[in-house]
Amino acid sequence: MMDFQTYRPLALRTAKMFPTLYENLRHAALGLITEVGEFATEVKRIAVYGKPQTEEMRLHMIEELGDTQWYVPLAMFAMGIESLPTISIKDISRQPVKTDNLADLALLLNGLSATVSMTVATSDFDLERNFVARSLGMLIFLIDECVAPLLGTTGDQMRAENIAKLRLRYHDKYSDQAAEARADKGGLDATVS
Ligand SMILES: [Mg+2]
Repeated sequence: MMDFQTYRPLALRTAKMFPTLYENLRHAALGLITEVGEFATEVKRIAVYGKPQTEEMRLHMIEELGDTQWYVPLAMFAMGIESLPTISIKDISRQPVKTDNLADLALLLNGLSATVSMTVATSDFDLERNFVARSLGMLIFLIDECVAPLLGTTGDQMRAENIAKLRLRYHDKYSDQAAEARADKGGLDATVS
């Protein structure tokens, strides 16, 4: 089982590291919004277009939430956040948002990712550290406690699958070449999510 603490160093091993806080946080912010967007794309097909959820869609949503989580340790590293604050459902649940509804949860995850984006854009990092830590804590909490059960999995399972995928791609360390080759996707290019 892969709790978030176990996952953190394993995820960071395959991160491309830039020399500055700004560049690393920008990488994390871009990653969070794009991966949550990939998850939200499937949610939209179900919630708006009325598509019945298939097994393929379920597995795709789980994969994208694993990808989403991968950027959390990077954002923490960039900002020097040592640990995530403890979050409870009361910190999140606001009417009329439903934490048992995939569409509402996608919006919450997007909003929390946007916090990191806004921090990069306004760049007062010392001031924003606690705010970002809280948003990242909420993001992991929502995935573990609300989204994962709706998709018939657990946060631990998603993180374990994410690391297994990255092992195929990078073995144990990031390289530009391996990122481009994407062995886990049979060499499909990076425009395939
Ligand atoms: Mg993805």
